[in-house]
Amino acid sequence: MTARYEHTTDGPARGSLRLLQLYPRDMNIYGDWGNTLVLARRAQWQGYDVELLSYDPGDELPSDVDILVGGGGQDSGQDRIKEDLVKVGPALKAWAADGVPMLAICGLYQLFGHGFTTAKGQEIPGISLMDAHTVAGDTRLIGNITLGTEDFGAVVGYENHSGLTTLGPGARPFGTVRVGDGNNGKDSTEGGRVHHVIGTYLHGSLLPKNPAVADWLLARAVEHSGATWEPEPLDDAWAERARTVAMSRPR
Ligand code: GLN
Repeated sequence: MTARYEHTTDGPARGSLRLLQLYPRDMNIYGDWGNTLVLARRAQWQGYDVELLSYDPGDELPSDVDILVGGGGQDSGQDRIKEDLVKVGPALKAWAADGVPMLAICGLYQLFGHGFTTAKGQEIPGISLMDAHTVAGDTRLIGNITLGTEDFGAVVGYENHSGLTTLGPGARPFGTVRVGDGNNGKDSTEGGRVHHVIGTYLHGSLLPKNPAVADWLLARAVEHSGATWEPEPLDDAWAERARTVAMSRPR
């Protein structure tokens, strides 16, 4: 599927971005599609055209993209995409090394790591884009979650996973857990970062309530496209209200 989103500002577009949504059919739960929509909308509002591409197992991978987004999925969804992901893994790793920004939520975050050992003992291989490994625990970690982050201030979302992720020395955490469980409920880390890639357990969806993260990803995408990112201030009053409500909710 390809969709075009034209810039909504006056005058010519300031640039054009190719946004790839990875595995929307199998890996796209708890509103993760909202992340793609936020990126496309904020880019339009800042004067950029967006070409939205989606990639499902067996499709032809585009030759180059400026930003990639992937969502979460059940173990069964991860099982369905695992062979294809291993096939496209080297291309995704090359993009990441080349500075393509990526956002991988939950199930894809796990598989961007070295792999996920399910509760049944099955090993779903990852692509080792992120130095992290995940093993299913015996309880699900569910609820509202708030992080402190260095680059984006407080980040809010919702987590629902059984996998317990441990980062290796090649990845740094996305944030420090203030409320919730995060990567494993023990070491206070949440998510992982490498190059311009963010992996995180936070659904919600993440980006509508965390515009600072969206704009950081867009800035990296615009840089990758060869255009300049000089954003105008946007009215984020609704996002601010949603953040306040989310942070006031009980776990
Ligand atoms: N199946 C994985 C887990 O439960 C991922 C879940 C998800 O993506 N929400 O850990």
